[in-house]
Amino acid sequence: MTSSDRLLIGSNLKMYKTIAETVDYLSRLVSVTSDLPRESIDIFIIPSFTALPAASMLKSDRLKLGAQNMNWADSGQYTGEISPVMLRELGIDVVEIGHSERRHVFGETDDETNRKVIAAVNHGFTALLCIGETASDKNLGISEERIRIQLKIGLHDFPKEKLSRLWIAYEPVWAIGVNGTPAAPDYVEEAHARIRSTLEELFPGEADHIPILYGGSVNKQNCCELIALPGVDGLFIGRAAWNADDMNTIIRMT
Ligand code: PGA
Repeated sequence: MTSSDRLLIGSNLKMYKTIAETVDYLSRLVSVTSDLPRESIDIFIIPSFTALPAASMLKSDRLKLGAQNMNWADSGQYTGEISPVMLRELGIDVVEIGHSERRHVFGETDDETNRKVIAAVNHGFTALLCIGETASDKNLGISEERIRIQLKIGLHDFPKEKLSRLWIAYEPVWAIGVNGTPAAPDYVEEAHARIRSTLEELFPGEADHIPILYGGSVNKQNCCELIALPGVDGLFIGRAAWNADDMNTIIRMT
């Protein structure tokens, strides 16, 4: 665990849940987790953009909220995009950047993730940079190189004084979603150690504080083993967390 000693457990709701469904989910989550000690765990949920204004009414020091994407510019001719200035109005905490689906379905590049990460921290958000190799990278034996590139470009010129606002999610693309295969614990442990050493290279003496979360087919069956691994500072969960009671069970198991 990082020096903050707080576990980070969060979920990206992707393009699921309407405004009403998001409010129901968050209300239930707030109620079932209300007795959890605040000092040891941070819960964060990342709903759709349209649900964020309603969701922000339910945010608290127990529950952080995030956005699934963001443009790097404050304003401009970027049809269909949402700017950091617009997100600021919603009072959200976290911006997820470079999720596998953004990269592989919508063609987001490392250079774009870099611009978004820098804009996010400069606007006072925590940037959650998602990285991970594809199945083809793995088969070609270039997983390590891919992750190094994603970190080195994604964090290029990152302002060191804002390192407390950086989280990394390691999510091997082949482990995500209904067709994903959960990564083996020793594989996750090795990948996290390599990520930590690349972060150390980028920010000498200061990388210990950057939380590295694991994501990709996390569920009730494997969450305990994954969170117990050295170098895993939190879990970033999809499908298995989209029911508030299931999310509560996972949180309590970790
Ligand atoms: P999953 O999704 O847990 O459903 O595999 C993880 C993610 O996409 O972050």
